[in-house]
Amino acid sequence: MERTFSIIKPNAVAAGHTGKIIDSILERGFRIVAMRMVYMSRNTAAKFYAVHYGKEFYGRLLDFMSSGASVVMLLEREDAVNELRMLAGHTDPAQAEEGTLRRHFGESVTRNGIHAADGVENARREAALFFTEDDIMDAGYFPS
Ligand code: ADP
Repeated sequence: MERTFSIIKPNAVAAGHTGKIIDSILERGFRIVAMRMVYMSRNTAAKFYAVHYGKEFYGRLLDFMSSGASVVMLLEREDAVNELRMLAGHTDPAQAEEGTLRRHFGESVTRNGIHAADGVENARREAALFFTEDDIMDAGYFPS
């Protein structure tokens, strides 16, 4: 089992797509082990996207991520990182394949609907910005 971190971004939440995106993620075989709706501060967005500091789109990205409610999720399944990246699709919704979340729920490169962590270590670091130990369900919580 592997864990990955995801965010339903403000454009998708505002457009009322939260439920459909969660359904797609569950249908893909993920278990949600932590989930919360957040109104991200610009400061938290800056920490989250620190790797992009200095890039042309950085300011726009922080404005967008702190513009409204998002849903943050810690997700679990085999090969979770790759599976979620595939379900999310290309960063640019215009280049994302049919059937991907960004193709359906993305509006532009910045407002692309969903975040999918690019590795296990980054997923852990990102999740730590939003979840404490008590927010995270362990396997015993779920009846088999
Ligand atoms: P991904 O989210 O697909 O892993 P990156 O880590 O490169 O992509 O970028 C993080 C986020 O920053 C993207 O999901 C998107 O919202 C935004 N972004 C990336 N590149 C651009 C760009 N060229 N112009 C505007 N926004 C961008």
